[in-house]
This record gives sequence, structure tokens and C-alpha cells, in this order.
Amino acid sequence: MSARASLIAIPHSLLRFAAALLLGLMFVAPARAQSGAITVLSSEAAPDFPAEISFSLTAEAAASNIVAVQLLYGATREEALTVVDLPVTAGRRVEARHTLDTQVYYIPPGTALTYRWVIRDDAGNELTSEPQDLIYHDERFPWSERTERNVTVFWYEGGDAFGQDLIDTTTRALDKLEAEIGSSLDLPVRIYIYASNQDMRSALRSNSTEWVGGQALPGLGVIVGAIGPDNRAEIGRLIPHELSHQVLYQATNNPYGGVPLWFDEGLAVHNQERRDEGWDEIVAAAAQEGRLIPLEALASNFPTDADQTRLSYAQSRDVVEFILKTYGEPKLRELVAAFAAATPLEEALPQVLGRTVDELDADWRATLPPQTEEPTVLAAPQTAPPERFEGDPTPSGAGSAAAPDAATGWLRWLTGLPAWATLAAVALCCVVGVGAAGTLLLVGLRIAGVDKRTD
Ligand SMILES: [Zn+2]
Repeated sequence: MSARASLIAIPHSLLRFAAALLLGLMFVAPARAQSGAITVLSSEAAPDFPAEISFSLTAEAAASNIVAVQLLYGATREEALTVVDLPVTAGRRVEARHTLDTQVYYIPPGTALTYRWVIRDDAGNELTSEPQDLIYHDERFPWSERTERNVTVFWYEGGDAFGQDLIDTTTRALDKLEAEIGSSLDLPVRIYIYASNQDMRSALRSNSTEWVGGQALPGLGVIVGAIGPDNRAEIGRLIPHELSHQVLYQATNNPYGGVPLWFDEGLAVHNQERRDEGWDEIVAAAAQEGRLIPLEALASNFPTDADQTRLSYAQSRDVVEFILKTYGEPKLRELVAAFAAATPLEEALPQVLGRTVDELDADWRATLPPQTEEPTVLAAPQTAPPERFEGDPTPSGAGSAAAPDAATGWLRWLTGLPAWATLAAVALCCVVGVGAAGTLLLVGLRIAGVDKRTD
């Protein structure tokens, strides 16, 4: 069955407004209140993770023929709805069906969805059905689950002890975050812990096979991770890190501004119970070699190079810990409140800490070993464990439901770049490649005695 999915996204608020308007019209002009002429007999959604969700409707009109049916669906937490025009054979009673291919339109496990129908008849009546909810749960695994303070953890290997560890770590992380930034989770978060990377990858985007660590989507309230039952130490890294993203996102989510990436990642890494080893040395070496990245440059993107990405995370952690140590938790809370009020970083820092971004950067650098070497472009091999970056599922939550966040591990950086960035990178490679080839050709020609221009 073919259905035309329109690309229009209708905000829920607009729908609510439209519904209110309709109700208003019904109130003042009862003669036009004809939506009762259409009745929904059955409406359901049958999820089959990760393949598809089948939506089906049976509706009936009292005295006319139903001629049009639309399905509207979207993530419950997001403002946008997808509208699908469904083919129907006009009649008093119609059945409509739509299969959403979630391999094509990826939806992460645990995403809360809302859907409704708009049904019209040939007499001009229109009915918008009551919104219905579903959770796109991954039914393929025998999940155990526990809920504590708005967080539900799902796991299927490791038994009760593993689950207890997950929930204890969750509780500790929420306590610490509440003390540090004064926020807790107002909206539920679901954490799916797969027992292997292979299992987890089967729940991620089909083209994300190189993503080893997982995904976290604060906009949807979902965290997907892989932790084997024999790797309990990873719980202390992944859970607090990702919960930090979720709590900060919920505390500061507003349509006008965002939290600087170095603050978001720095707080997340700082909150890990399992501390990344070797990072102090990475920062100290970068300081001595004059390779530190300006704080300003870490506000919205981290570099794509693996060593530079690692340095970005390490610097971010250091700066957040410098703020905590120098100014204390109350100032950190004030800073988060400023971000929540959409105050740009350039104003928030002077307002709360009395320092500009560059001044804060300089203050922090003054705590590091002085530069002893000329800056080098290429970084020496570093000692941080590479899996550190494979295990950093980080935030997103756009309409695509699972676009990789810019703050994730380097593998995700490479695979998750937006198309324009990939194109730009390819173009840059081409330019560099052509330049290098040209140089080689010139050198070759000169050696061969062909090019005598400069002689
Ligand atoms: Zn992160």
C-alpha cells in the first residue's frame, strides 16, 4: 500500500490551538459541530522493533462517505508531527493502514510516540482523534527493569546484582548532579543496557555499525548502551556520564540557546565514577607543547581528529573542575540557571563568574605547567584507552530522532557528520590531494628537467 508522507511538520501546540479554535467554533456555532458524525471504531499501533510500526484505523461516518484519512505521528517529547495521507476507498466505513519502516525512519528503542488520525467525509465533517501513546520498546530481549526517581533501567544479563548496580549508580549520579547543578529529572529517562555491542548495534541505525558505544538522546529521554555483565566498572563510567547529559538537557532546554559543548561534556566526564586515566597528562603535555585548544573553540564542536577529540574532552573536564574548585557548586548552579534562561555564554560567564570566556581560559591555563616547547602541529600518541571514545553515547534528539551528537566519540564523529560536513571534508581532501599531486608533478617535472620557468 502506498501512502504519501508529507514533509510538513505540525507542532503539537498548533494542533492544540486548532483544536481549541474548533471547539470555540463548535461552541458559538453549534450548527457546524459535526465531528460527531464520524466515529473511530478502532485505532491501534503494533510495534515490531526494530523493523516497523503498523498503524491501523477503522472509522465510520453516520450519514456520508469518508473520503480522506491522515495519520499524524511523532515523538511525544518533540513538537513536530509527521503527516501521512493514507489511501482510502470512499465509504461509510473505511479501514486505513500505515506501516512505518523504522529501518528507514529510524526510531531508537524506548522512544515515546504519540499518534492520532484526521478523518474527513464528503459532507465536510472532520474528526481529529484523541492522541494515543506508545513506547517503541525493544521486545527481542528478555528485559528486566527497575525504576528509581524517573529513571528506568533495562537489562537482560547479569541478574539482579547487575540491575542493582545500575540503579545504585543512577541514584548516586542523580544525587551528585542535584548538588552540583541543582537539577533533577522532571521527565522520565529510559536506559537500555545491551549485553554486547552486537546486540546494541542491532538496535541502532542500520548504517551505524561502526558505532561501538551507543547513543544517547536527551531530547527523547533515551540512553542506549552496551555493557557486558563482566564489565561492571563500565557502569560507573557510562551511567553517570549519560545521566549528566540528560539532567543538564532537561534543566536548560529552551528554544533560544544551548549549553556550550565543553560545559556539557566537561560536566559529564567529571561526573563519571570511573575516571579516565592519563587525561591529566594529556592536558599537561598539551600545555607544555603549546597545543591547548582555545576554550572558545570548544563551544559548539569538538575537532574530528582522535587525539584532538580526546584533548577536547580532557580540557572540558579540567575547565569544569576548575570552575567547581575555584567558584564552588553555587556558582555552577547559577551558570546552569543562566543557560536555562538562554543567556549566551559570552554574557553568562561575566554575569556569574565575573570573567569573560578568554579570561576564564587564561585563569585555568595558569594552573597548568608552562609552555616549554614550540607548538607542534602533530600530537604525539596518547595514552588514554581508545575504548573511552567508543563508549560515549551522547546527546541528540532532533526530529530524525537519532542524529549523532557532535559531542560523541571520534568514530561517531566520522560516521555521524552531517552530509554538508562530509562533503566539505571530501572537498578539502580533494583540494589537498590535487595540491599535493600538483606539487609532486612539478617536482617530478623539474627533476626530469622539463620545467625551467624558475631557473
Ligand atoms: Zn558525552
